[in-house]
Amino acid sequence: MTTKKRILSGMRPTGKLHLGHLVGALSNWVKLQDTYQCYYMVADWHAFMSEYEDPKGMRDNTIEMVKDFLAAGLDPERCTIFVQSHVPEHLELNAVYSDITPLGWVERCPTYKEQLREITGRDLTTYGFLGYPVLQAADIALYKANAVPVGVDQLPHLELTREIIRRFNTLYKKDLFPEPEPILTKTPKLLGLDNRKMSKSYGNSISLGDEPAEIEKKVGQMITDPARIRLKDKGHPDVCNVFSYYAVFAGPEALANVRDWCEGATTGCTECKKNLAKVVARYLEPMRSRRNSLTGSHVEDILKAGAKKARAAAGETMDEVKKLINFFA
Ligand code: SF4
Repeated sequence: MTTKKRILSGMRPTGKLHLGHLVGALSNWVKLQDTYQCYYMVADWHAFMSEYEDPKGMRDNTIEMVKDFLAAGLDPERCTIFVQSHVPEHLELNAVYSDITPLGWVERCPTYKEQLREITGRDLTTYGFLGYPVLQAADIALYKANAVPVGVDQLPHLELTREIIRRFNTLYKKDLFPEPEPILTKTPKLLGLDNRKMSKSYGNSISLGDEPAEIEKKVGQMITDPARIRLKDKGHPDVCNVFSYYAVFAGPEALANVRDWCEGATTGCTECKKNLAKVVARYLEPMRSRRNSLTGSHVEDILKAGAKKARAAAGETMDEVKKLINFFA
């Protein structure tokens, strides 16, 4: 029997997930369960780095997010779902990695600078936040992950993880940690309802648990091709955000029909959006009903079992690390 390779991926607990999370990461996580031994983490220490001034939503956000994980198809029998802070070894390995990582490596990290720009309204000029790529390296290495699912924009980040791992292996003369390879996945880019980046804080997203009426209301607000003012104006579906949603959630035949409606000016934008709302609601229906059947205590049980499995793997790694650095294991 061949042992499956391991991967680790995580999300900061931001509460209910939206369509962008689903098509950008979660759908891929679900597929990877069959080919890899997957560790999926609620990255609460990472969230705390930006939410330390007001952490009151952390627990509820964790429960809501894990409900979405499960609703989307993550199966605790086939993957390990856990909360980062339930496995204290993350902070232990972070301490080791922090000591061996040259300051210049983190200061130069492009994704660190990007996060500083992207997460607005928070004071992130802290000692902890500068070190967040080091904690990420520790998260990955703790499970000896062979691979990490990433987008092209996250490649520099993974390179830093590989460099820290290489430094550890060289310093202590043992290839303890594998250098994780990227699993590059092409995911469709979905803009928010107002054509800006999809974000809960912009209020421009559809949540995975939204009811059909809510979806219809939200889709009704979407911006369409500005050239289509009257029904008889021919439209350009390729510049319309509504059409890009069809491209993700409808089949090829339905997509071709929408193109005909738009370019042939046979159906108006209001009708087109009403139809899209139905398409999206139908797509989300199985997830919504799975989600509604989950309780908070069900999720807590899954996280408890996940922490047990994660700690077993993490504990083994930390024992090996401590031996190598001459600590009492
Ligand atoms: S008909 Fe549909 S695809 Fe065409 S502009 Fe209107 S909303 Fe967009």
